[in-house]
Order: sequence, then C-alpha cells, then structure tokens
Amino acid sequence: MSTAVYFDNNGTTALDSRVLQAMLPYLSGQQGNATSRHIFGRAARNAIDQAREQVADAVGAHPSQVVFTGSGTEADNLAISGAANALAPGRIAVSSIEHPAVTRPADALVWRDWKVVKIASNRDGQVEKAALAAILEEKTDIVSVMLANNETGVIQDIASLGEIARQHKAFMHTDAVQALGKMNVDFVDLNVHAMSLSSHKINGPQGAGALILDKRIDIRPLLYGGGQEKGLRSGSENIAAIVGFGAACAFASREIQQRTTKLKMLRERLEQGLKQLDATIFGASTERLANTSFFAFAGIEGETLVMALDRQGFAVASGSACSSDSTEPSHVLLAMGVEADMARGAVRVSVGTHNTAEEIDLFLHALKNELSRLRKLTAVAV
Ligand code: PLP
Repeated sequence: MSTAVYFDNNGTTALDSRVLQAMLPYLSGQQGNATSRHIFGRAARNAIDQAREQVADAVGAHPSQVVFTGSGTEADNLAISGAANALAPGRIAVSSIEHPAVTRPADALVWRDWKVVKIASNRDGQVEKAALAAILEEKTDIVSVMLANNETGVIQDIASLGEIARQHKAFMHTDAVQALGKMNVDFVDLNVHAMSLSSHKINGPQGAGALILDKRIDIRPLLYGGGQEKGLRSGSENIAAIVGFGAACAFASREIQQRTTKLKMLRERLEQGLKQLDATIFGASTERLANTSFFAFAGIEGETLVMALDRQGFAVASGSACSSDSTEPSHVLLAMGVEADMARGAVRVSVGTHNTAEEIDLFLHALKNELSRLRKLTAVAV
C-alpha cells in the first residue's frame, strides 16, 4: 500500500475496519439470496432489513422509505428518470452546479420531449430562493438541487427551496451524497420528496447507495425483473455492500460531532496556510462542508499542480474528481462566475478523519515548494 497522504475523501473514502468486520460474514461461506424463503434467504433478508433501519435512522426517515441502489449515481438516475417515467413530458429544473449523475439523466430527458432548465448559482455557489421561484413561475414537474456540492462543499438551503417547489407542486429531489456523514441530514426537515445517498463517501464500501423516497410519490423503476426493493430496483441485492452501508451509516451518525470537529480543525489549519500562499478559496464566505477546500493560484494549472503534488506524495483532486480525465474548467466554478483561467487552476483538498495536522503541515510545505518551482518554469517559458 502506498505511503502517500490521501486528501481526496470527496472522491471516495477508506473502508472503516469496523464496517469491514460487519461485512465479512456476508463475503464468505454459503450466502442466501434475500428473496429465498429458506433459512439462508431469511438470514440475508434480515441483514438487509437491519441495514435499511440503519440508513433510515441516519437521515430521520422510515425504513420503508429506503430504496437500495448500486451507487449514488443510480439513486440520482432513479430519482430523475424514475420520476419522469411516471409523468407525461414536461419541464425539469436542475441547478447549474449539480453532479453529472443528476445533470446527465436530466439532459437525456430532452430526447423524450422534456424541457430542461438550469437554475443559476450565485457567486458564493448558492442557489437562491428567488432564482428557483422565478423558474417555477412556469409549470415545472421536477426540481433537483444538491444539498452539498462535491467540489466547493457549499451547502444549500434545501428546506427553503423544497418549500418553494412544494408550493408549485413540483417533485423535489436533493443529492445528499456529499452531505451524509459530514453534516446533519434529516429527510423530513429537508422538505424534499426524494434524496440520494452513497455508501463509499462515508467509509462504507463502494457499490451501495440509496434513494430515500416519500412513499406518496409515483416513480417508475429503471430496472425491471424480480421486483426487489418493492419493485423499484430489481436485481439480487449486494448483501455485503448493503450491510456495510448500514454499518457505515450507524458509525457516521454516532460519531458525527467528533468527526466534524476534527475535519473543521484540519481544514482551518489548511486554509490558514493557503491564505499565506495567496490562494483564492472558492465558496469560503458561505457555509461549507467541514472537510472541503477548493482553491486556485493565479497562473498555475490545476492539473499540473495535482500531478506535481502526486509526485510529492499527496493525493488531491483537480476540478471534479469524477471527471478528472477532462481538462474542461469546473462547471461549478463557471456557474459561480469564476473566470475560466482561474477555474482551470482549481485544486480540491477533501480531508478525512484519518488525516492529521502534521499531514496538513507537510502538504503546505510541499505546496509552497511546488508553487515556486512551477512559477520559475512558467517564467522561463515566457
Ligand atoms: N453525487 C455527488 C454529489 C457526488 O459527489 C457523487 C460522487 O462523487 C455522486 C453523486 C455519485 O455517487 P457514486 O460514486 O456512489 O455513484
């Protein structure tokens, strides 16, 4: 295993060893299929039911509102395409800072005669109530605004936006994939009809997610088959991953206070150092997730800096980690009105609870050296 320092926890997180312990019995020996009626099947069903309760508990929902999926991406697709599948072609509004797991299924609705509109973000990375209200003056069927942004960490006032959507009788979805485990997330308080979650962002395994759904809402499945998850997501359940997701939710809820305190301390230490190096920190003047810092240095390419830092043993992301093979500037920063050149310089550090103050100090030291080396190279090239 590499000795590099991992600062990309919004990309994915390390599996908690306690979560692994909870999963192990479901990864070895004879496993049942949760739809079977025999003793092995019942054991699998019980394990899923317990995980369903743990996920529901973590977000103040009822277990019957949890639909397990294979990822956060699938939960987003189920919310957007599933809601649209139950409606005649209409109008969908998604914020301009959404993850592609929301924007792509929304954009794809155009092929089915839907109209897609983007809700603007302000310079702080926030979707203002007035912006949503203006869009909803025209009849709109589906609205999706994320709870916390994966790049900037900026948190939205979803409860108020949800209220506006309800007044206009629109189906309201929020992507809470990044928010879970890093802030309190309460399905009822958020005032939404559907909310997406993902296991691997909270030290659970990859390959599990959930859509939390108001049962009064009619959505249609994306996958048809054996009728698992009340017919909303057919396919034999990934029991070990679901059990791990449940355990990760239980630990995250229990430890949220101590986790966020530590994350905040690390992020503050990092940003004090970044300010001394004249970084521009995006979304810094508004409420953000405790662990996320998204910044840039004038004249320095984000991609180049990420590679230079990688060589120094620090794993950070440029722009959105989920599209790190793309050199396009971050659409989130462009939506916030950041100049394309500055946006191309963006680097994201997302700390995790395993990180230490010493790692932050070592990072700042390496960053300072790399910045001066890259600036010298640029000066020679000019
Ligand atoms: N939504 C947001 C905000 C994300 O950050 C991500 C992943 O980075 C996803 C959705 C997709 O989740 P998953 O990786 O579980 O498919």
